[in-house]
Amino acid sequence: MPEVILRCRLCGATYPPEHRYVCEECFGPLEAVVALPKDPETLRSRIQQGPPSLWRYRDLLPVETPRAGLHTGWTPLKKAERLGQALGLRNLYIKDDTVNHPTLSFKDRVVSVALSKAVEFGIDTVACASTGNLATAVAAHAAALGLRAVVFVPADIEAQKLVGSRIFGATVVGVAGNYDQVNRLCMEIADEYGWGFVNVNLRPYYAEGSKTLAYEVAEQLGWRAPDAVVVPAASGALYTKIWKGFRELREIGLIEGPLPRMYGAQAAGCAPIAQAWMEGREVVHPVRPRTIAKSIAIGDPADGPFALRVTRESQGGWATASDEEILEGIRLLAETEGIFAETAGGTTIAALRKLAQQGAFDPEETVVVYITGNGYKTFEAVAQRAETPLVIAPSLEDFEVRVLPTLRESAPAVVG
Ligand SMILES: *Cc1c(COP(=O)(O)O)cnc(C)c1O
Ligand SMILES: [Zn+2]
Repeated sequence: MPEVILRCRLCGATYPPEHRYVCEECFGPLEAVVALPKDPETLRSRIQQGPPSLWRYRDLLPVETPRAGLHTGWTPLKKAERLGQALGLRNLYIKDDTVNHPTLSFKDRVVSVALSKAVEFGIDTVACASTGNLATAVAAHAAALGLRAVVFVPADIEAQKLVGSRIFGATVVGVAGNYDQVNRLCMEIADEYGWGFVNVNLRPYYAEGSKTLAYEVAEQLGWRAPDAVVVPAASGALYTKIWKGFRELREIGLIEGPLPRMYGAQAAGCAPIAQAWMEGREVVHPVRPRTIAKSIAIGDPADGPFALRVTRESQGGWATASDEEILEGIRLLAETEGIFAETAGGTTIAALRKLAQQGAFDPEETVVVYITGNGYKTFEAVAQRAETPLVIAPSLEDFEVRVLPTLRESAPAVVG
């Protein structure tokens, strides 16, 4: 295992890599810090000889032995020609975690690291406070490891996501409240029962899993950083850890040159970090979420202040999307690239579009947009708006009279 310490994100106090998450000096949050390998060429060849999963980066992750998610990560980085054409960006890429293994969201990454650590700590019951995707990922990975799983979600999340956790044998607890209330309850349970809550008392390890979204993009681009990235934010952990991942690669010497400008995306109905940024505040005021983008509806984001610091340091920005714009974003991505994203992805595409319109990107720049969850998991969000299919008699005549005139012209071919 690489050398690891826990460090307080507020006062810098350090601790051995144990099962703890709060600083004893100042009650600040702890983060895992992995001692970086010194020789980039040795590391590069170890990575390239590694498995086609996030565990190819195990030298940069705070675990002894990979136990969970042996097929998680290493998802496609797709050149988005047609979406890029629509937005005036010639080097746009989609990092497509809609096809992550096994539960179709980026949460498979963080859970792989957290549950590998839980096994190391000898924990037999794993749990989480979730807006939906995390619950499903914890349930699936726990099932594969034979661990007991108890997942806590706001009672009003999408029905498919509840089913998606139940099927793995997890105990699913719907809490009558919003995510922030669920999270507070989970902190009390964690203190009382010692269960491994992946995003509470295992959070320092869990959060490191998100760094792999930076590592993979850099490697897939041929060991270079993009000029800019667009990332959806709930707690802000993903956003800050993607930055940390790129920074680490440059420190090791695996990439050179400027780091990407970090752009964040939030739903207008739950945009505490984006609002703070736009109003020039350093303090994030909690909000009450009201959005169809439930997977990123966290009104009191734990990483909010750290995310704002990253935006400033990277010279990035933020954009928000209304529910209508989120649905348009889902449709735009689906119709141009054949990728069906969930509401978080719609938020991110809508934010990308706004930023492009505002001139945030040069047309030649390499821009990577992170699509973090699959649309088949939030069918309800789009199904209400879907048109009922055209029904015809089983005859060629009916087809010619009723279907042919409705077809739009075929989309123009994209010249690469
Ligand atoms: C959890 C989640 C995020 C972002 O999570 P953070 O709390 O900001 O790390 C983004 N997209 C999807 C689909 C998610 O489930
Ligand atoms: Zn501290």
